[in-house]
Amino acid sequence: MTNSRLASDSLSDTPYDIANPGDLLRLYYEGAKLPSPPGGFLMVLRVQPEDDGSGSILLECATSSLRYQLDVPKATRSERKRVRDGMESGADPECPRHAGQLLVRMRNDLMCPKCGVRYARA
Ligand SMILES: [Zn+2]
Repeated sequence: MTNSRLASDSLSDTPYDIANPGDLLRLYYEGAKLPSPPGGFLMVLRVQPEDDGSGSILLECATSSLRYQLDVPKATRSERKRVRDGMESGADPECPRHAGQLLVRMRNDLMCPKCGVRYARA
């Protein structure tokens, strides 16, 4: 633990981009462990909803404490429809990507607390 990066525990450190976000996203949606590029696993530090309806996830490598940002694409038209159809049938709105994860209300939208993505109007 001599790396000076480890001493600063600030979230303002610029995170690294993930080289193969598609693979990682798939694992993330499945609820699987996320392999860290330098080895070991990534922990989720923060899920952040973005202004355009997409999400971003701040990850930290459990071994190296390096941080990575994973961008989560916005809801597709068919995902939004699935959520809307579910709500119209009286079901609690679930994330179309995370099985069994209920959407939460954020201002006027419903978002997934794991994706940070907005899927419907509340
Ligand atoms: Zn989700």
